[in-house]
Amino acid sequence: MASFARVSVNIPQLTGLFDYEVPGELAGQIKPGTLVNMPFGRQTVQGVVVSLVDEPAVPDTKLIETLVDSEPVLTDYQLKLAARMAEDNMATLSQCLDLMVPPGLSQHADILIQPAAAEIPADVTPTQNRLLDLLNRRGALRGRQVDAALPRVNWRESLPGLVKRGLISSCSILPPPAVRPKIVRTAHFSAPDNWRENQEIKIGRAGTPALERRRAALEFLEEQALPVNVGWVYAASGTSSSDLNRLAELELIHLGETEIWRDPLENLKPVLTQPPVFTSDQASVWQQLVPQLNNPRQCKPNLLVGVTGSGKTEIYLRAAAETLALGRGVIILVPEISLTPQTVKRFFARFPGKVGLVHSKLSAGERYDTWRRIRSGQLPIVIGARSALFSPLPDPGLIVIDEAHDPSYRQEDTQPHYDAVHTAGSLSRITGGGLILGSATPGVETLYRFERNRWNVAHLPNRVLSHADQPDRITPAQAVFGELPAVEVVDMRRELSDGNRSAISRALHNELAGVLQRGEQAILFLNRRGSASYVFCRDCGYVMRCPRCDTQLTYHADESALICHTCNYRRAMPQKCPSCGKTNIRQFGMGTQSLESAVLKEFPAARVLRWDADTARYKGAHDLILDHFTQHRADVLIGTQMLAKGLDLPMVTLVGVVLADVSLNLPDFRAAERTYQLLTQVAGRAGRSNRGGRVILQTFQPDHYAIKAAATYDAEGFYREELAWRQRAGYPPYSRLLKIEFRHTDALAVHKAAIAAGEQLVSAIAAGAYRNTSLIGPVPCFYQKRAGVYRWQIIIRAPDPRLILEEHPLTSWQPAGLKVDFNLDPINLL
Ligand code: ADP
Ligand code: ZN
Repeated sequence: MASFARVSVNIPQLTGLFDYEVPGELAGQIKPGTLVNMPFGRQTVQGVVVSLVDEPAVPDTKLIETLVDSEPVLTDYQLKLAARMAEDNMATLSQCLDLMVPPGLSQHADILIQPAAAEIPADVTPTQNRLLDLLNRRGALRGRQVDAALPRVNWRESLPGLVKRGLISSCSILPPPAVRPKIVRTAHFSAPDNWRENQEIKIGRAGTPALERRRAALEFLEEQALPVNVGWVYAASGTSSSDLNRLAELELIHLGETEIWRDPLENLKPVLTQPPVFTSDQASVWQQLVPQLNNPRQCKPNLLVGVTGSGKTEIYLRAAAETLALGRGVIILVPEISLTPQTVKRFFARFPGKVGLVHSKLSAGERYDTWRRIRSGQLPIVIGARSALFSPLPDPGLIVIDEAHDPSYRQEDTQPHYDAVHTAGSLSRITGGGLILGSATPGVETLYRFERNRWNVAHLPNRVLSHADQPDRITPAQAVFGELPAVEVVDMRRELSDGNRSAISRALHNELAGVLQRGEQAILFLNRRGSASYVFCRDCGYVMRCPRCDTQLTYHADESALICHTCNYRRAMPQKCPSCGKTNIRQFGMGTQSLESAVLKEFPAARVLRWDADTARYKGAHDLILDHFTQHRADVLIGTQMLAKGLDLPMVTLVGVVLADVSLNLPDFRAAERTYQLLTQVAGRAGRSNRGGRVILQTFQPDHYAIKAAATYDAEGFYREELAWRQRAGYPPYSRLLKIEFRHTDALAVHKAAIAAGEQLVSAIAAGAYRNTSLIGPVPCFYQKRAGVYRWQIIIRAPDPRLILEEHPLTSWQPAGLKVDFNLDPINLL
């Protein structure tokens, strides 16, 4: 029997596995996937057992100390998936395993620092002085508390000196898990039938209140078929726990424990809905999908292309039902739970009691209990955002990713960087399960991959038109197909030259007037991301570009300069438009608030509702705003990106895109694609009922192919044109990118490090035989300074950018305090 365990230690930066001896008393309990505590260096840390071995890799092994949970917290397939992810994403195994350890159970080691001297000696360094002062004021602190109190101070370096001088002491600690199963005590009747008459049974002295209470408790319990919560007994009889303990000692009742579940859905009472009969489109898609699903040898991804309202969710529901019938589990990923309540509710209604919801707003306890119920097989369907992919279903047989183009499926800001869509592909191959990606606007890289691999692409070309008043209650006979709303492109340069300086064009004004007059609803969409970042001429539409690389220049307000994010070219803000010579050239900077005032100025009686980061900051605000609008307590909804998500708003007959160009002018090679997707999705909000709908798309660049394609619903045309451009410019899918980000609190240090790394890479590329390999940068990041940290980046573009780093690891020149982040296939270059 194996008596050693190979463990991935839960220290995120650490690579490699470590062997530990399994102590005799834990033999048999320690299996692959169990979470254990053990010594590491001088600390106690947590780790995941990845395998058992007979012979340790090193002669000297330490002993595992304790088990965190008696059952494995990771399944076998999750261990395989984590290994795969680490390799695919340039991440460490422990970072990937950590994604799968249930929240609250996972603990990172920390240190506890105690002050040991009352006076601060005069000869300490400034940093040491700040640390000692903090400890004197607040007493013993954990490392993470010191981090919070002294942000951006490299205090850890000054620790050893202080310990040596006896000014402080430090020891390692491992905080206890933050969550535990919720247990209640129960009582169950176990007295003989004749307990009332039996003289032998003395439950209390005659005439005392205790006797009355205990008798009442027994009478209550005698009526209960099953063990009940002791709380109920207290309430029914006035007993206390000492009364019940006494009865238990007399063996008249049996006290036990049961685990209860904290259920986030407790208050949601679903209405059961019957599956509809498929439309002919759905039936043919289903025929295409069936051979791919639940065929462990196939496991190829399926792409389901269809606009919102085309009936995709019905396909998901059917596929889920079939998977459950085979005894396997289902994972449904949605971009953001709070923005897709309608999808979630339909799953609850169709599969009552079987669906677990996983998202970031659950309390730690709720999340932990949901996790346990999923692991035990009680909840065979999981719905959630990106991280729901790591739910421990005993046997996942189907993964559905709705709105698969959504950027939230990529973990971009924290490590490990991974893409849930790719990871779902790996998972479905490991478990032999089906995979369905649904989208109205799949990305060109996805389409390209499907074409290259000849994977199944199914289309739902038409909208299922539902009843305006009862969107959820239609019969198949009523499921007629709706038209996509007509799109009108408005050239904003013309508006200006004709003397209209408002953000609302004449066409949009007229349509809005009509909507208000007919008592319908309108949505005005304003893209905020990067909106103040590019500089263009209001008269001719000219956009400031880099003379060397032709990318859009970015306005940096802090330096009041225009910067090229490809080559770091800089210039001052121009006084006149280089193209037409007029002085109307500046950055675009309209917010939702000023748009609201513009609307109210032209339509004082309109009821306007704003949905943006400001108004939706509070918990539940999304639902509230949506409810308000759905119940027609507002006529016009002004919103940002959030509006693009899959909302079903039947009374909306007009969508106005206030300025389509904003996202088009971001210095990112996916700018055109993002704009096309966003415009298509926003347009899809109009005309969801038989009232029809209309879209007004305002732009300074009416001839751009992304705008033209969006206006004519020409997905195929956009795809071809975009791919041709990507190939010419050498961007994905014709290359892969690796973004290396340098971060430091010292602006000069990070600048120097990035330049030095750039030079090293350039000479490595020149010396080696790397095919089609080039650098973009080094340049300061688009958001150059964040939370006091300065950021620079280099992008390596190559068929496989990992190769060059394997041969030329970036280590030698790193100054202290520098953080380097590797992001392979990033979706955000800014
Ligand atoms: P999507 O997921 O593509 O947005 P849905 O599946 O939500 O599309 O379908 C849009 C609307 O049409 C929903 O209200 C849905 O209940 C209804 N619907 C879909 N398929 C059918 C069908 N076969 N018969 C009747 N109604 C349907
Ligand atoms: Zn440039």
